[in-house]
Amino acid sequence: LNRRLAEFGTTIFAEMSALAVRTGAINLGQGFPDTDGPEEVREAAVRALRDGRGNQYPPGPGVPELRAAVAAHQERHYGLSYDPDREVLVTAGATEAIAASLLALVEPGDEVIALEPYYDSYAASIALAGGTRVPVTLRPGEGPGGGAADRRFVLDLDELRAAVTPRTRLLLLNTPHNPTGTVLTREELAAIAELAVERDLLVVTDEVYEHLVFTDEVTPAHLPLASFPGMRERTVTIGSAGKTFSFTGWKVGWVTSTPELVTAVRSAKQYLTFVASGPFQYAVAEALALPESYFTGIREDLRAKRDLLSAGLTAAGFEVYRPQGTYFITTDIRPLGEDRSHGGDGFAFCRALPERAGVVAIPNAVFYDHRDAGAPFVRFAFCKRTEVLADAVERLKAL
Ligand code: PMP
Ligand code: GLN
Repeated sequence: LNRRLAEFGTTIFAEMSALAVRTGAINLGQGFPDTDGPEEVREAAVRALRDGRGNQYPPGPGVPELRAAVAAHQERHYGLSYDPDREVLVTAGATEAIAASLLALVEPGDEVIALEPYYDSYAASIALAGGTRVPVTLRPGEGPGGGAADRRFVLDLDELRAAVTPRTRLLLLNTPHNPTGTVLTREELAAIAELAVERDLLVVTDEVYEHLVFTDEVTPAHLPLASFPGMRERTVTIGSAGKTFSFTGWKVGWVTSTPELVTAVRSAKQYLTFVASGPFQYAVAEALALPESYFTGIREDLRAKRDLLSAGLTAAGFEVYRPQGTYFITTDIRPLGEDRSHGGDGFAFCRALPERAGVVAIPNAVFYDHRDAGAPFVRFAFCKRTEVLADAVERLKAL
């Protein structure tokens, strides 16, 4: 393994899903739904396969139907207009979009600022691009209402400003944020936008959870960074069908940006996979055009699941950061601390959890450079059937 990758072993998601299989525990670790997405979208994929659409290499930028659907989606939900031919690129999931963006835009030695805890592929992709990651830590703090129920992980804007140096090339942002469930507010996004303009930074923004926002607390649901003044021309926005439509195995993602930035990202992407997911691209084009009731439905379904698991985790003794978006709940395990050996060590806690309670979770420390800052936090996924979550809650009472 080369030096760029030496610090990265097996991803935590593979490790923890293997642990779940080995122990028969309920897997609330890796974030994938246990119910597939809409029947009509699966049918659309079958039709594409049967009709021979996408069974051979699709066009490099993505099939025209999907590029048009992505552009129409950005217009319909956010009033952002993108030219499907020059400003949209289809990728093999958001993961490839992230890797290709960094490989295309970062010079060796450039600094890349990422919110910590960060999704694990960010660190590896920055490393592959030869960049230096500069984490800015989200810290437990008060929510907009100031009450215990709305504690959230908060971005310190002064810390973000202080992290920018003459070597900073880009900000790698993620909202709604995995693993904390924080949704950046309009004010926070406006301040980030101002900083990016002032310091002339590019921004790659990972918005794969854009539709998984629980809107009674955050209005309007999702604000793309690209919609802020001065941002459209410096922002690469990343989306994915995996989360919105519950098809994580299809690996269909996309990038929207300016023609120059899309061309740059495509230059890297064409030598990673060239193209992927032919027939699924046609199906996702149909999914993106689903009526508003689909998007409201998945949100409402997940909101109920969030509330069920939040209440169960609280009852079991965890301190819960109730997420405003995504399908993850970050908890603090310290209140469970009768067991000193697991009191503040999320790794040890997660390794022991299948044995102790028959549940698998993810230690947030893997998403930190400042491991101590992440040590007491553990993430649970709630994109599972209600009966599975209820069973997990019952099991966790044993702690
Ligand atoms: N970004 C974030 C924040 C994610 O949580 C995930 C999926 N877990 C991805 C990117 C990757 O998405 P995809 O499956 O489309 O590659
Ligand atoms: N994005 C999912 C998560 O955060 C899993 C992705 C993966 O397995 N690489 O759990």
